[in-house]
Amino acid sequence: MKNKLFIILATITISSIITKVTETFSIESNLTFAMIKPDAVQTKNDDKIIDIIKQHGFEIMAMKKTHLTQKEAENFYSVHKNKSFFCTLITFVISDPVIGMALKKENAIQDWRKLMGATDPKKALTGTIRKLFGTNITENAVHGSDSWQTAQQEISQFFPNLSANFKEKINFNKKKEQQYV
Ligand code: ATP
Ligand code: MG
Repeated sequence: MKNKLFIILATITISSIITKVTETFSIESNLTFAMIKPDAVQTKNDDKIIDIIKQHGFEIMAMKKTHLTQKEAENFYSVHKNKSFFCTLITFVISDPVIGMALKKENAIQDWRKLMGATDPKKALTGTIRKLFGTNITENAVHGSDSWQTAQQEISQFFPNLSANFKEKINFNKKKEQQYV
């Protein structure tokens, strides 16, 4: 009898752990961080870019318009700190406000990078956001995370109060230019 009870309890525990792991994995792989860069905000192409994002099936879980400080920008792009273009990139990214977004979709990271297009707008495919709105290799309209680890760091940097599992849809109000959590 005791053995039977133990087996039942063990089965319940194991299956709930499996469910939790599966749930966490599917949430993780379905999120990315996107940013509309200062060039596209300044040229007022941000609304058009947001429309394209929605038309391609991304759900905007959080959105925030902010003017990054030098320190925040250097932290955000720290992976490039030894590159020759680092200073140019930082000067550009702090030149005007940006709009950061947490996006949800199946294969969010890959699909968002595909929709952004190549880093250099000249090399980007027709129909991609960088082809449509990018100016040059620095001023290329949008940013996207390149891995889940990066997405996690970037989402945390922009939305520190966002609930850990991102299950709740977060309302935003662009006019307030605040964090919407
Ligand atoms: P992002 O990280 O912004 O999504 P990406 O992943 O396509 O862009 P990265 O190699 O990570 O490209 O470069 C980060 C950003 O640095 C680019 O989006 C661009 O703004 C700038 N950049 C990249 N390469 C160059 C370069 N050769 N000259 C000038 N700026 C560059
Ligand atoms: Mg990158």
